[in-house]
Amino acid sequence: MTATVSCAVLYQSHRQVERAAIEHGANIARIAQRSISRNVELLTLALDSLTWRYRHTQLHEMPLQQKMEFLLGENIEARYVAALGIVDTDGELVVGSAALSQILPGPYAQSDFFTAHQTHHAQGDTGLYISAPLTVRLERRMQVVVLSKRLAQPDGSFAGISLMVLYLDYFRDLFQGLTLENDGVISLYSADGLAYMRIPYNEAFIGSRLNISEDLERIFSPSGPAQGSYFARAQQDGPRWLYTFARVPGTGWTVFIGRTGARIFREWYNMLYAVLFLMASFCIASIYLIRRVRVELQRRSALDQQLEELARTDKLTSLLNRRALDEALARAWKRAEENPDAIFSLLFVDVDFFKLYNDTYGHKAGDYALMAVSRCIVAAVSRLSDQSGRYGGEEFVVLLNGTDTVGATHVAKRIISAIQSLKIPHERSPFDILTVSIGVTSLLREHHSSIEDVVKDADAALYRAKQDGRNKHSL
Ligand code: GH3
Ligand code: MG
Ligand code: MG
Repeated sequence: MTATVSCAVLYQSHRQVERAAIEHGANIARIAQRSISRNVELLTLALDSLTWRYRHTQLHEMPLQQKMEFLLGENIEARYVAALGIVDTDGELVVGSAALSQILPGPYAQSDFFTAHQTHHAQGDTGLYISAPLTVRLERRMQVVVLSKRLAQPDGSFAGISLMVLYLDYFRDLFQGLTLENDGVISLYSADGLAYMRIPYNEAFIGSRLNISEDLERIFSPSGPAQGSYFARAQQDGPRWLYTFARVPGTGWTVFIGRTGARIFREWYNMLYAVLFLMASFCIASIYLIRRVRVELQRRSALDQQLEELARTDKLTSLLNRRALDEALARAWKRAEENPDAIFSLLFVDVDFFKLYNDTYGHKAGDYALMAVSRCIVAAVSRLSDQSGRYGGEEFVVLLNGTDTVGATHVAKRIISAIQSLKIPHERSPFDILTVSIGVTSLLREHHSSIEDVVKDADAALYRAKQDGRNKHSL
């Protein structure tokens, strides 16, 4: 029961953690996507503004310096914009910011960002073309991307391009500003799997092409979802990752947020271990307690048995006491009633001249004599089913289950001779030693109608033995 409830709670909390992680990833992807989207929009506007100024009728009369300021002045201020320029139909730079010749010297006739417009392959509604990542050398190695737009003659024919060189540091700074745990990954890919940025940052990774698996193909396809999430393994036996993604409209880019399952479910695993620990502790404690209780119960039951035995035992002789003897006799009678073939015999044993013995040797000596007699009785009855008890005073009854008169007579003789062989002196007995007389009776179904009848018959037989001179048995 406890285990089932624990499992259900753990399962539910696992689902909750998963949902929260997907939500968290989706939020970060959305923030990145909106930020990029807005900035690209602004940069596109900047390119449009450059184009508009370039077309301005008075531009061609201006001196070069003024022309540069008019064309590029404000836009150069943008932090991540490395350079701007206008390129003619032959791919030659018409005008460009000072850095352009350093960063990306022309001619541009073979560059993808030029040929794409020449052949009308610009992306999206905005006509913006985004080049593959390029590594350029300034004071240090820098990675850039070229954003370009087509210039058209009044008749619509190709008139060259306006271009803008953007540092990829823009994405790096943007992504680094988004809070991700240490083992999180945030990356930006084009629709054909080209990497533009990845945090943790690795220069070599930029420009590499992703091996597009089946899962990714669905995401990158033009009809794919605008955002979503999925679990995947980077390598076959590697850790499981949760990826959330969002497309950046108008750019062909997709932002990916990756977090390892281990990280996401760390707290949950801590809880799992705590629950398992508690359950294990509970089980160990329960097993320990159950064992303790069992040992205690066994001890008590042994004690109860001992007490029960004590309650059934005669203190002086250790034979059955009168109560236990009566019970044994009642059971024998019941068995005989239930089973018509059952037989049993009774011996009524009485010490001869015992009053005189007590009077002569004292009560204590009498007790020892009774103990000696009881030992002889126990030694003379051999079967497990035989039961001996003290009927009262110096009288004993032996119940011999499954024994007929012949067998009972044998036992009676054994008892008499065993006591004789003890040779306990009894100077006031005609035998000079302590002796017993025994009445022997067996169950007679036609004659006996209760156990009392059998006992009475045994007593009567004893009386006959006494009458017959004692130190003998009688039927
Ligand atoms: P009989 O041969 O006819 O059996 O004579 P008896 O003297 O043995 O019989 P009686 O019934 O006259 O005396 C029994 C005596 O047994 C009386 C009593 O003092 C003695 N006695 C009974 N119980 C105990 C006992 O627990 N210890 C001792 N020492 N004596 C007992
Ligand atoms: Mg007696
Ligand atoms: Mg007697």
